[in-house]
This record gives sequence, structure tokens and C-alpha cells, in this order.
Amino acid sequence: MKTIEIYDTTLRDGTQAEDFNLSVVDKIRISKKLDDLGIDYIEGGWPGSNPKDVEFFKEMKNQSLKQAQLASFGSTHNPKNSAEKDANLKALVQAQTPVITIFGKSWDVHVRDALRVSLDRNLEIVADSLSWLRPKVSRLFYDAEHFFDGFKVNPEYALATLKAALKAKPDCLVLCDTNGGTLPGKLVEIIRRVKKEIPGVALGIHAHNDCECSVANVVAAVENGITQVQGTINGFGDRCGNANLCSILPNLQLKLGIKLLTEEQLSRISEISRFVNELANIRHNKYQPYVGASAFSHKGGIHVSAVMKNPETYEHINPERVGNIQRILISDLAGRSNILSKAQRYGLDLSSKDPVVLEILSQLKELEKQGFQFEGAEGSFELLMNRALGRQKRYFQLLGFRVMAHKAAEDQPPLAEATIMVKVGGKVEHTAAVGNGPVNALDNALRKALERFYPELKEMRLEDYKVRVLSSVDGTGARVRVLIESADSESKWGTVGVSTDILEASWQALVDSISYKLYKEEQKRKQGKS
Ligand SMILES: [Zn+2]
Repeated sequence: MKTIEIYDTTLRDGTQAEDFNLSVVDKIRISKKLDDLGIDYIEGGWPGSNPKDVEFFKEMKNQSLKQAQLASFGSTHNPKNSAEKDANLKALVQAQTPVITIFGKSWDVHVRDALRVSLDRNLEIVADSLSWLRPKVSRLFYDAEHFFDGFKVNPEYALATLKAALKAKPDCLVLCDTNGGTLPGKLVEIIRRVKKEIPGVALGIHAHNDCECSVANVVAAVENGITQVQGTINGFGDRCGNANLCSILPNLQLKLGIKLLTEEQLSRISEISRFVNELANIRHNKYQPYVGASAFSHKGGIHVSAVMKNPETYEHINPERVGNIQRILISDLAGRSNILSKAQRYGLDLSSKDPVVLEILSQLKELEKQGFQFEGAEGSFELLMNRALGRQKRYFQLLGFRVMAHKAAEDQPPLAEATIMVKVGGKVEHTAAVGNGPVNALDNALRKALERFYPELKEMRLEDYKVRVLSSVDGTGARVRVLIESADSESKWGTVGVSTDILEASWQALVDSISYKLYKEEQKRKQGKS
């Protein structure tokens, strides 16, 4: 039996985060993923607060969840009303979820200044709201808002609010660090006091990240007998966020040995972390523990050779357990073992004594001196290895391009146009295209010229374009490095170009991007045949 219950509030508390917005359809898709992951409770929203949440709960009635239970969230009744006349409490019941969570005030300052009622009246409000809901729902949770801050200034009153809530026999009292200002030591001290005052009651934790301690606070709370853990995917939430379930779940399961999910479920956590960002159109944080692209990446040559011999030397867990992978980065620190392990991943068979390895190493060092960087440009790196192995095919030859930028008047937007001439298998193609900027025009013209020969380029798109000005080393003027990220329906790849001329640097990265796509398609065809 599970000893700890996981309560996800990505869809409610998470959407309080700046720039994190989800449509009703997004919320339904995320609910399904959370259900697959093995989350016990999914808080879908606050039906009393907005029509979108009402619609979500309505839609969810037609969806079946395998094991997770849906929760609706709301506040204790309005002080001017009684519980049975409160529209907000009614909306919670109308959402028809198996779980209802309501929050109430535990901090005397909030009761007096925000709610503007007497301390006793607040106790009544808490008790009445929960008592009215109790017979109408199968699981009832009480979020004690600002509990830790309230306890710090008036512990007797904070405890009195919990005791008032207990009269209605809720299934769990959730202690909230709403302002995220409590450190683990204090948090543990308060939890111990609560457990002593009201023994035998199921307690939960809801922690915000304003001191960057939310995950630590949750772990400490669990070590001190808390049985319900609240949090969000990727830690989205008000201000600095809520406690991050993508770190909490592996911490509890892999470090504390608490069985929450199956191994298979836990290995989905990286995918879900990316999925949620993808739907919210937010770039995935590569430095995120456990699930970030850098979480198991190795750059230094000595680290790499040690990790290759024994991953435990620089990895705290096996990345596969959280669905992540080990990455060996290419950089000027690249030692021989970086090249070897990269080559292996790309299916290239090299031995460390192979002169090709030395050749790639010396080319790499030379290119990095010029300002190339292959960390975000694995596509360019793979092409470089292929060239060193004499495998790189040229898919087209450039006979020339011209790019024009024309601004007709002060209040007119500039117009960019590119003409290009390329040769493919003896045939010359000459074409032109416009674009919103010179690089875009050049990209459009190049694709237009090549699509006749390589129709597969139609399904490829540029995802991101980054320019970095590199400081000048030799007084010849600054160089720019262009990083392009391209994608098709199957994968993403980065390519790089460096020059004193931004168009030339962009051109190099574009050519690599297209060549990489064509190379990939060629490999696929070969594999299909064999
Ligand atoms: Zn919160």
C-alpha cells in the first residue's frame, strides 16, 4: 500500500505562474498524462472563479481516468453568507468531482485585515464550510493557507483553525507555506508541534519556492510523517513557483525508497516535464534536475572518460530511471573519449587508435578557436565526423547568391529579397524569394531551389535562430556565431556557422541544417532497404 499520496496542482496553482497558460484542451491532455504517471489526485481548477474551469470539469465528465481522482478547489464560504447559501461552495459540488479541496485562513493578521472578521468568526467559517461539504463528496481536503507564517506569530490560533476544520472530519489537513518563506528547519519544528497537538491526523504539505526550498521542504515534511504531498510539474506556480514534482517524485522514490510509482511510470517523468512545457509553449529548462537535457551531460574530458568506465563516478542515479539519457558534450575540453562515445551514438565505429579520431580532435580544436561551438549544434558535429571519415556527400553546389534589403521610406518596413543559383546533379536551378529579413529570404530561396530535387525538405522547419557576437581576438572585427535549430516531425537538430559576416555565418548553419536533414533521410532509406 502507498504510504504517501501525490496531489498535483499544475492545472490550478501552476497556472498562476507568469507566462504559463493552458487551454481547456491542454488541461485535459495533461490530466491524462498525470493519470498515466500514477498521480493520485489531480486538482483541475477553481470552478467558482472562472468559466474556463467550469468548462474543464464539464468536459472531464466525459473522460475516464484510470486511477487518478479529480479534485476541484475553492475557498471557505463568504463571511457575509452561510455555507448553504454560498455560491462558491455550490459551484464546487456542481463540478461533481470525487475530491474537493477548500482553503481557509490560519494567520490571524489575514483574518483581521484581509477577511475583516473576528478570529472566532473565521473558526466558524472553516468548520461550517467543511461540514456542509462533508456529506456531499467522497474525499475532502482542507488547505490551511499561510499556516506556517500564521504559526510563527500566533501558534495557538493557527492550531485552533486546524481543530475547527477537524470537526468536519476532513480526510487530510494540508499545511501550506503559501508565501514560500519558511526554511526546512523551521518547517520541521512546526510540523512536529502540530503532530504533538493533534496526533493521528493525516497531514499534507503545500510548499512554495520563494526561498528555493520548496522541494527540500516537501522532502523534510515527508521524513517527518506528512502523508500527502502537493506540487506541480516543473514547479510552476505563483511567483517563484510551487514544489516541483519532477524532482520530488524521484527524490522520494529513488532516495528515500518510498514506492510511489512503478519503475515504468517514473521513467515517464522526463517526457511529461517536456510535454507540459510544450503545451504551454515554454522552452524546456535544460538545467532542471533529473529531467533537464543537462542533468546527465558531461563536458570535461576527465569526467567523460570516468563516466564511460563507470557512470556512477559523476551521475547520482541511472538517468534511464527518470527517462533521461546521458549526453556527452562536445567542447574545447573534448578529449578522445568524448569523440568515441559520440561516434558510438551515431553508429560510427571508431577505435581510440584510429587516426580519424585525432583528425576530428584537431579539426574541432581549430574550429573552436574560430568561435564554433558544437554544444547546441550536434547536427554540424555529426556532419564534421562524416567528413573526416570521407562519408559526407554534397547534396548541392552553390553557384552564388545575392541578398538585398530595401527600405523605401521611414515609415515603411524593410523588404528583403534573395536570389540564388544552385547546381544539383548537373542541373542548375536559379530562383528568388522574399522574406522578413535577409536571412529568412535566403532560407526561403535556398529551399525553393532545392525542393524540386529533394521534396522531403518541405517537412522541415526552422525552429529557432540565435546570433551571438563573439569578442574580437585579433583586432579584425567581431565575429558572429549563428545557431539554428531545425525540426521535422521526428526530431530536432542544431547547426552552427561562424563568420565576420552575419549572412555568411547564417548560410553555413543553413547549409548544415539542410545537409543534415538530407543525410538523415538517406540513412533512413538505407536502413529500410537492409
Ligand atoms: Zn499555492
